[in-house]
Amino acid sequence: MIQLKDIRKSYRLAGNSFEVLKGIDLNIHEGEFVSIMGSSGSGKSTLLNILGILDNYDSGDYHLNGTHIKNLSQKKSAQLRNLFLGFVFQSFNLLSFKNAMENVALPLYYQKVSRKERNKKALEYLDRLGLKDWANHLPSEMSGGQKQRVAIARALIANPKVIFADEPTGALDSQTSLEVMEIFKEINQQGKTIVLVTHENDIAALTHRTIRLKDGLIVAN
Ligand code: ADP
Ligand code: MG
Repeated sequence: MIQLKDIRKSYRLAGNSFEVLKGIDLNIHEGEFVSIMGSSGSGKSTLLNILGILDNYDSGDYHLNGTHIKNLSQKKSAQLRNLFLGFVFQSFNLLSFKNAMENVALPLYYQKVSRKERNKKALEYLDRLGLKDWANHLPSEMSGGQKQRVAIARALIANPKVIFADEPTGALDSQTSLEVMEIFKEINQQGKTIVLVTHENDIAALTHRTIRLKDGLIVAN
């Protein structure tokens, strides 16, 4: 599903270039539930953004579901993301002026699904995540755990092949974190490939495989 070969990525800062990813080789198979661990600044988000076609890399090769992800146009990247990928972030990234149903429905808007159809489907996904009664509420009226469940429903609604989650429990208390991890586990059991970034050992322990990043390289896999 995901194949990385010698991926390198540098950032320029004040005229200096420094390499964050120094040759990443990685394969993730369909149906896996994988975590990426490493200390703050080790390049976890950089790697996840490359995997999610949100950012480019400098050299190497990335194949996603058989497609070579290199020098793609913005339009092609967006197409692949909409078709194959779902995203969950630490800070939820919900639109504050849209209610839960509208937030969940958003990916279908980009697929030109009618408002009636996408709202119907959004309600189904909210129901699945135990949030049926919260459909008309704004994010500001919901707890962190509820907001993350809305974000997970939004990630799932277009039926992606892979879910990328960057520190999805980073803003949640430990009980709520476990509840959110339980949801990821169920989603994985229903066949979705999940790649989850965390710096917490007990969260990584709930996934099936942990990839450790250190100084721009994978040190354990
Ligand atoms: P992590 O998610 O593991 O904390 P990141 O991938 O966010 O690490 O960042 C890795 C390193 O790259 C850090 O030193 C960070 O400051 C730097 N970095 C990240 N994004 C940028 C950027 N857009 N421009 C310059 N430096 C960046
Ligand atoms: Mg990060």
